[in-house]
Order: sequence, then C-alpha cells, then structure tokens
Amino acid sequence: MLGEVTAAIAQKSFGKYRPIAELGRGGMATVYLAAATGPAGFSKLVVFKQLQAELANDPEFRDMFLDEARLAARLNHPNIVQTFEVGEFPNTQTVHFPKSCLHCEDPPCVPVCPTGASYKRKEDGIVLIDYDKCIGCGYCAWACPYGVREIDEHRKEMTKCTLCVDRIYNEDLAPQDRRPACVMACPTSARIFGDVHDPESDVSVAIRERGGYALMPEWGTVPSNHYLPRRKVEIKIREDELVRPDSPRKIDAPTLHPGTERPTLDDAANFSG
Ligand code: SF4
Ligand code: SF4
Repeated sequence: MLGEVTAAIAQKSFGKYRPIAELGRGGMATVYLAAATGPAGFSKLVVFKQLQAELANDPEFRDMFLDEARLAARLNHPNIVQTFEVGEFPNTQTVHFPKSCLHCEDPPCVPVCPTGASYKRKEDGIVLIDYDKCIGCGYCAWACPYGVREIDEHRKEMTKCTLCVDRIYNEDLAPQDRRPACVMACPTSARIFGDVHDPESDVSVAIRERGGYALMPEWGTVPSNHYLPRRKVEIKIREDELVRPDSPRKIDAPTLHPGTERPTLDDAANFSG
C-alpha cells in the first residue's frame, strides 16, 4: 500500500519531480512515487529517493548515496536486461526482463518529433531515427511509454534498438545470420525473430500457442514485440560449444585431470614447451 504524502511534501517539487505517494522510508532516505514533468506538457511516473536532511551534509553519506544513484542509473539503461525480485519472502522469484524498442504499430515517439528524424518504415514497420535530422530535443523519449530511448550525450542524438536493420537485410551474411545480434547471442533461445504479420512465422506461432502478450496495451501503442509467459526450459547447448578452439587444454592432452600424474591445466597453459 502506498504511504501518504503530507500536504507539505505534495506542495513541494523536487526540480521537475512532484511527489505523489511515499513508497518507503529508511534510516538513510525516503522513496517517493512522483510525476516528472517534461517539455511540451509530457509527464511520466518515476520513483525517486531523497537523502534524509540530517545526513545531507555528511560527505561520506553523500558519496555513498551518489554511488548508489550512479549504479542504479547504469542498471536502468534501457538496452540491458533488468532484473527484479518479485513476490513476498519466502516465495520470491527473480525475473530477468529484457527491454528494448518494441517497434510499435502506432508509435507515439514518431508524431512528436519536430524534425521528422523519428520515423516508422512503411515497408517493414521498423521504427528508426535519422541521425542527420535529430536535434536531440528528447521529445520522443518522453513520449515513449516504455522508456527505451536514450540520448547519446556525446553525439547529442537519440538512440535506441534498430532491430539490427543493417544485419537483417545484409545479403553478404548467410541467411541464418540475418537476425538481430541479441537473437543470435542468446544462449537459451529466449528471443525469437520473425514477421509478426505472417501468421505462420515462428513468432506468430509462438505468440498464438504460448500466450504471447503485448506490454502495457492500455497505451494503445500496439507493440510489434511481444513477451511470452515464463516457463522452465532446458538449455540447449551443443557439446562442441563447450570446448573453446583456443583452449590450452587442447594443446598437450585431450583431457586433463588435475590431481593426477597427467599434465595439469597449468602445464598446458605454459607454452615453454
Ligand atoms: S517502444 Fe517506444 S521508441 Fe519504440 S516504437 Fe514504441 S514508442 Fe517508439
Ligand atoms: S530527440 Fe531527435 S528523434 Fe527524438 S524527437 Fe527530438 S529530433 Fe526527433
């Protein structure tokens, strides 16, 4: 249950953040649910943490607090897999949640762009950014309800998942390699790539048969990317994938057993001969 926000707090604004409810309070800080207001009337729900006033002047606490904030900011990078603990102890579970651009059918990030840099391709529906037109205003990041766009502070341009558009149409690659890098890299085949408009594609079959769902459908964005409910699977790793071709173990002996009289891994890694 959300804690009350006192009238004094509700009237306060912390920069662009306006507290809505208190989520928790500890010895070091208080955590609030808040509305963040952006340009052109955009607004988003965020969570922020306020260091207790009596600790704010202590440099050691301040450094600790800032280190934690820096770490949290890195973990919340839109293009990484986020990890959550869900449920109540002792019945908790760990959920790994990959998040990237969902290439929405009706993407709110497109019409808000003042330069036309943010666009959806007619031919395949991929949502892209034309870097030559982007002025880094950030409107699209505010409009995206999934928080998957991030400004590149160095180039001052907006970035996000491109669905590896340069890979998937690359005729120099073998057909089985014309897939996004994340799909190819995933060791458990958790990601599937294909045409969501083709009812017989692998993705459409998986969505249909395994109860695939769109993220936050209430926004009306109609995401192309879907999520499948979690299930236990066996990891499919081929025997030869477990052996690195450059493994030093392959140099001196086919199989090395530490603790026997045969050469050890250290011996094999010592190339002195
Ligand atoms: S997920 Fe966000 S950035 Fe991607 S198309 Fe949808 S609204 Fe745009
Ligand atoms: S940051 Fe770039 S892509 Fe996003 S709205 Fe502004 S100009 Fe368009």
